[in-house]
Amino acid sequence: MPHRVAIIGAGFSGTATAINLLRQDSTPALEVVLIEAHARMARGLAYREEDRESLLNVPAGNMGLLDGQAGHFLEYCRKREPGTASGAFMPRHLFGEYLEENLDAAQASSNAVLERVRGTALAVRRRAQGFEVELSDARVLVVDEVVLALGHAPPAVPRALAGLRGHERFVADPWDWSSLVRVDGAQCVAILGTGHTAIDTLLRIERRARTKVFLISRHGLIPNGHRMSAQIPATAGLPEYLGARPATVSSHMGAIREEARRRVEKGGDWRDVLNELRPHTPTIWQRWSQKERRRFLERVRAYWEIHRHRLAPAIHEQVQELIASGLVEVVSGRLGVCFADDKGVSLEVRGGGEGGRIVRAAFLVNCAGPDYDIAQRGSPLTAQLYADGLVGQDALGMGVCVDERYRMIDREGRVVAGLYYVGPMLRAQYFEATAVPELRHHCAALARGLHEALAQQARAKSA
Ligand SMILES: Cc1cc2nc3c(=O)[nH]c(=O)nc-3n(C[C@H](O)[C@H](O)[C@H](O)COP(=O)(O)OP(=O)(O)OC[C@H]3O[C@@H](n4cnc5c(N)ncnc54)[C@H](O)[C@@H]3O)c2cc1C
Repeated sequence: MPHRVAIIGAGFSGTATAINLLRQDSTPALEVVLIEAHARMARGLAYREEDRESLLNVPAGNMGLLDGQAGHFLEYCRKREPGTASGAFMPRHLFGEYLEENLDAAQASSNAVLERVRGTALAVRRRAQGFEVELSDARVLVVDEVVLALGHAPPAVPRALAGLRGHERFVADPWDWSSLVRVDGAQCVAILGTGHTAIDTLLRIERRARTKVFLISRHGLIPNGHRMSAQIPATAGLPEYLGARPATVSSHMGAIREEARRRVEKGGDWRDVLNELRPHTPTIWQRWSQKERRRFLERVRAYWEIHRHRLAPAIHEQVQELIASGLVEVVSGRLGVCFADDKGVSLEVRGGGEGGRIVRAAFLVNCAGPDYDIAQRGSPLTAQLYADGLVGQDALGMGVCVDERYRMIDREGRVVAGLYYVGPMLRAQYFEATAVPELRHHCAALARGLHEALAQQARAKSA
């Protein structure tokens, strides 16, 4: 009997893990069961749409799916368009095609078997040996190991908007693009959030019709843009200017700001400072105490995010033009009293520069960012895993904890043998874990560890 590994979720993380498993010589025999709720495999939330205007926010030269081969996607692009620059920002759907083609190729050349299952996993239960995965259509798959690659949780609904839940004027999930169609034809729309999802939603709305849009967030900060010829991060060691500093947020942030200023004074670009730090962010995060991490999340994160997670230059330019034209207005402050009626929504925005105001709009789209507090909400699957104690939550509510082989740490702090996690919720441990350059490393490391353990078991059995 082959060793069966179920991967739940075929977005980037699940697909890249499957590809890594299929590319290794599998002894003993291996069967990978890739389970995806959406009709399209190997796409995930970010790369499943066919629209040509949504661009990647990482340069082509750093979007390779294989660890140690950052340029793998660039090679793919160059086969189609020979002149593609390493710093180019390609359409997101092209990356989806790249993932699909690589999964097909890995399947065709592997001595392991890939089974593709369309369905939503509702529960994962431990058996005397292995696990069973229950699907929404009542099928039950029996497997030896399970990799959870569930991706992004739906956005949190802030407390001030609790009364709007279920109201037709409130689009709770911006990634449910079928429900976003509701706002078509509206003269004025409010978007909660000013991050990447908010910008994505804004441009999606503006492409359909010129619409007045309010972008509302606590700080009103819009992500910066990349350079036209984006630089791929250097992979040197932890920069010297940080090495000897005490492990506190203020000391590290002070040093980073100083370094950025120095670079700019010398005619350089502050972006390079952040690019160079990228591979070291997990080390810095892990050096901080829990108190320091909390301080960072409360006081610094909003500023960090707009510098670190930048927009493709063309997207940044479009947003700036929309703001300059007055069609898009950024409103900063905290939400106060909010309600919806049959004509639209009314939002009190307190504080900010102007001492508070009321925003009226026909619809409100919630782009407040994914809610990773699985103890409170989460999908039916994560709720079941949490209730059964198989999945724990980190102390800061950022995601889940795993051991060095990506095996889940349960609610009692014990390793769950055979249950793995890979995806954005690794940010609880590594902070940076949402984009391809970080995830490709985790997917490869998980697959390698799984293979090695399997080979070891086989050797032990035959000895
Ligand atoms: C709109 C958007 C644009 C982005 N652009 C970029 C970019 O340009 N560059 C970059 O590096 N990163 C980008 N990202 C970051 C993105 O997080 C990663 O690149 C990566 O796509 C994450 O992949 P994932 O597989 O972990 O999650 P997801 O893409 O969310 O995939 C998870 C998959 O699991 C499936 N699933 C979940 N639960 C179940 C279940 N119970 N049963 C069955 N299937 C299930 C979902 O249907 C989904 O397909 C973007 C993210 C978003 C949301």
